[in-house]
Amino acid sequence: MGIRGFAPAALLFVVSISGYSQSAATPIRIIADLSEAPRKLYHAEIDLPVRPGPLTLITPEWIPGNHRPNGPVENITGVVFTANGQILSWRRDDVNLFEFHLLVPKGVTSLHAHLDCIVTSRATPKLAVLEWEKLLLYPANVPVRNILVEPSVTIPAGWRIGTALTPIASGLTATPTSDVDESAHTPPAGSMTTRYAATTVEQLEDSPVIAGQYFREFPLAPEVTPKHYIDVVADEEVDANLRPEFLMEVSNLVREASAMYGSHHYNVYHFLLTLSDTAGGEGLEHGQSSDNGVDEKAYSDAAHQLAEADLLAHEFTHSWNGKYRRPARLYQPDFATPQQGDLLWVYEGMTQYLGNVLAARSGLKSQEQYRDLLAMSAANLDAKSGREWRSTEDTAISSSILRAPNLAWTNWRRGQDYYQEGELVWLDADTLIRKLTNNTKSLNDFTRVFLGKGGDTGPLIVPYELPEIVAELNQIAPYDWAKFFRERVTDINPRADLEGIERAGYKLVYTEKATAGEIALDASRSRRSTAINVWYSLGIRLASDGTITDVRWNSPADKAKLAPGQKIFAVNNAVFSGPALREAIRDAKGSPNPIRLILQTNQFVSLADIDYHGGERYPALLRIDGAPDYLDEITKPLAAAPAQSSPVAR
Ligand SMILES: [Zn+2]
Repeated sequence: MGIRGFAPAALLFVVSISGYSQSAATPIRIIADLSEAPRKLYHAEIDLPVRPGPLTLITPEWIPGNHRPNGPVENITGVVFTANGQILSWRRDDVNLFEFHLLVPKGVTSLHAHLDCIVTSRATPKLAVLEWEKLLLYPANVPVRNILVEPSVTIPAGWRIGTALTPIASGLTATPTSDVDESAHTPPAGSMTTRYAATTVEQLEDSPVIAGQYFREFPLAPEVTPKHYIDVVADEEVDANLRPEFLMEVSNLVREASAMYGSHHYNVYHFLLTLSDTAGGEGLEHGQSSDNGVDEKAYSDAAHQLAEADLLAHEFTHSWNGKYRRPARLYQPDFATPQQGDLLWVYEGMTQYLGNVLAARSGLKSQEQYRDLLAMSAANLDAKSGREWRSTEDTAISSSILRAPNLAWTNWRRGQDYYQEGELVWLDADTLIRKLTNNTKSLNDFTRVFLGKGGDTGPLIVPYELPEIVAELNQIAPYDWAKFFRERVTDINPRADLEGIERAGYKLVYTEKATAGEIALDASRSRRSTAINVWYSLGIRLASDGTITDVRWNSPADKAKLAPGQKIFAVNNAVFSGPALREAIRDAKGSPNPIRLILQTNQFVSLADIDYHGGERYPALLRIDGAPDYLDEITKPLAAAPAQSSPVAR
């Protein structure tokens, strides 16, 4: 496992700073006990090699991929340190609350730590996800890529486990024989413990575990090396049996990614998939796996698939773009040093572009759906009033403060726009390369070089700065790429970057009827939400009960002084409903009368007139006659047609 500036042989050097002692022979040993996952408690027993003196242990704060300092230290409880049968006192650092200070007594070479984590999400009576930051404790101020750790995981009786970690041995959990640590939790009879090969703290943090009663593992694209699997846990047994069509599309995704990138940076890849209405809502990239949490029916049929059609493709792409190649200042030696997000429009933005392209190439969504959803994204960005004061780069720099769920005035604040803005910028770059080279080259020529350096490497992190991207793009198609990115990302732009769409042969327009893709997307989300979108006409977004979630700055609704949080009671002379609101918009077209609303704000009731006569407006891409259709060319399959074979679950 080679990692930045660090040869494998370096593991043989003894790392030894204040109280911590490690050689290749003595990894930290951690047993993660998920046997009480149904009760929302994880436990850990950790043995650390130490030497006498002051010792500072730490738990992760900046979790890679989360783009904010949200390590769950507040949920780490029951911390007890013991050595030679004695409990040791500890004190939390007064400034860095993730640090624990203690004094290792004379003669002590091994320290035991027990801790619990209160699990606030991602665990149900039927399944659990272990992100290691919930249980990790290791020496502070040591690069995490230099700290060896040997993990084991205990799961409830009858459960099975999925992870990219390499298993060594598995069996019934042994009953602890030592009585030195009364804090230790004894797993119930029948629990299973699996021991995994030693790795580094950096890699362990990058290797989550899913476990559950209803577990299936399906091999994907068997002809592709290295091996790929999709591991599934679900709250309902029926959901874990993934449809053959879906499995074929995910196999296609593996083939398409292999064809596009021409390299792999993992020894094995596991798509870890959690299907649960209560433990879903996650998408986190890792080098050798991805943690994908969606609703329990999200992939159960074609109609529900569209809302999450690009999730697996996006997180998979991160194995190349984000994990293997990472912006230098997003890659810090430990999980305590703040990460800097200014290049997230590459890390996330290019992944957003390539993930959507791969999803279309694999059949996870159709080419038409790709275009319709691209229109929705471009229109949303183009109508974002916040772009008048804040650049896309600023949304990346301030990523860690933009992950709040509050929707009020979010168009004026802007959100994590570096994802979708980045998608437009990289489509712009792709089509520009095609134009500059008479369609003999594309962004794929760049990604093969940039994301494929060194060929197949195994897990590895190679940091970069923007000048490398600029230089390599110049090799593909000479152009002032530094200026290209500065104008689109660093500068304030009152309009979204629509040049890529136009160069691809399409124009963003607004029509009176929603596209098939928008209707399908709404339908695919209908189990969880039924939002009403009159964003491009009146300028409001609403929940199905009429509560306004956001008002578009400078829109007709803004001019009528509507506010987020207000609830619409009545529209003209009708009780509020989505259809009634849409009918009022249609009626106002060509009429001099405003749309009259009765509104509730807390305990107050008021009237508002919206002077809008433009009719319904939905974004769509309109084909420009005669122009080359790069969009369909970009989203057509690249890989050779797969050999006929049916995946078999293990
Ligand atoms: Zn991402």
